[in-house]
Amino acid sequence: MPQIVCLTNRLAVTLIAMASSALLATALPATPAAAATPNFPPFATGSLSIGRHAVPAQSAKFIQTAAQRPPSRGPQQGSEPANAHAQAANGGNADQWNAGLVLTPQQRQRAVAFARLDYGLYFIGSALAIGVYLVMWLTGAGERAAYLARRASRYLFLQSLVAFVLVYGIAQMVRLPFAFYAGFVVDRRFGLSRETAAMWFADWAKYAALIVVAGAIIFYVFGCIVRRNSAGWWWRFWLAQIPLVVAVIFVAPLVVDPLFYRFTPLANTQPELTQQIERMTRRAGLNIPASHIFSMNASSKTTELNAYVSGLGASKRVVVWDTTLAALTPEQTLLVLGHETGHYALHHIPKEFAIDELIVLGLFYACYLALKGLLRSRPGAIQNLAALPALLTMVAALAFLSSPLFCAVSRYYEHQADQYGLEVAHGIVADPNAAEIAADQKLGVRDLSDPDPPGWIVFWLYTHPPIAERIRFAANYRPWAQGKHGEFVSE
Ligand SMILES: [Zn+2]
Repeated sequence: MPQIVCLTNRLAVTLIAMASSALLATALPATPAAAATPNFPPFATGSLSIGRHAVPAQSAKFIQTAAQRPPSRGPQQGSEPANAHAQAANGGNADQWNAGLVLTPQQRQRAVAFARLDYGLYFIGSALAIGVYLVMWLTGAGERAAYLARRASRYLFLQSLVAFVLVYGIAQMVRLPFAFYAGFVVDRRFGLSRETAAMWFADWAKYAALIVVAGAIIFYVFGCIVRRNSAGWWWRFWLAQIPLVVAVIFVAPLVVDPLFYRFTPLANTQPELTQQIERMTRRAGLNIPASHIFSMNASSKTTELNAYVSGLGASKRVVVWDTTLAALTPEQTLLVLGHETGHYALHHIPKEFAIDELIVLGLFYACYLALKGLLRSRPGAIQNLAALPALLTMVAALAFLSSPLFCAVSRYYEHQADQYGLEVAHGIVADPNAAEIAADQKLGVRDLSDPDPPGWIVFWLYTHPPIAERIRFAANYRPWAQGKHGEFVSE
């Protein structure tokens, strides 16, 4: 059910991931808020994202109901968490759910208005990211930043840091009004945010600081490689960024996410639920220690519902937002956790990481070819730091253009996790289909999910199948009704 968000904000990730996303990151994050939201644990995702939408994340998978937006939208005042139809889900007739998300006319109008605004902001944010760096490149801002960086130090790493701070800092300031509107004003207007402006700015600043550190490191690595061999940098740099991205995915849940939220072991507050989760995961032959299941205080900033998995190896974990725990019944929460368990059990993070990295290799080659054209008038710029704005222009453009690829990969795994959730909850929850539908319905209403998104928007932006499709799947997937086993979890 829930999709992991993954990301929307994977801006950060973007940086890191794509370019290691660092390069990219700079280009992407248009809305720090997004970055700062859980959905987007900034570095938790391993993907590129622009604006609040992220492309698939490699490091975190969310439940997500809205576009791919991970995060941040919650219930609005006045909208009942579940409408009358949702209540009918428990024990109701499954056929009625073939209609998808059931909304009152007011709920529908609000969700559609929000979705349209959100889609528009995504495209404007992408154009702005590309445009700002392109203007900086064309006006020679890269040369000036490189000159100041060389004057500041004779060490390449410090030069990279100074150049990155100047170029990224200017772009961030130019984009700040847009980021504030898209990440704070809109969410407040639709009742999705509980943040104050001061909280939003604090997260924005923290996020920017993280990007600067990551970006300087990646730009430094890029500089070392390109000085040795400017022709083959694309695959050498690709090899070099893989361990960096893996390290970020490992460390993000331990170091980065706690900068934005507080995480408490679920067993501390929900011992009964934790026992049921353990029963469920044991049934799947999976050992997820209770110490790896957390609740996150998302309610400090948002009204939206979500859950996600993130990390690798020892840092691997399942996280449920406290908003979700408050809004869903224990059975519905188990279905959400069943979905997250699916990501965990089916190794979606490493699999998606591997596929995304192959896409990134192609993007680096495309970036290499395009840069040759962009830098033709200024040979040598790539070796002396001055090409940074041109590089970030390419990263922003490629991150935007490649979104459908990352999203397609993500939607595939999200659907698989939905199926896994139904299978693993069968036998634990009396009617897993009804519980899943009810949970999807609540998530869809609270997070202002688009009840009927245009196909090309799904293609371009959705990291998860549209909520209506997920509800229809939940209504109809019952292999055990014909005496069969599930595909992933046998009895
Ligand atoms: Zn998911």
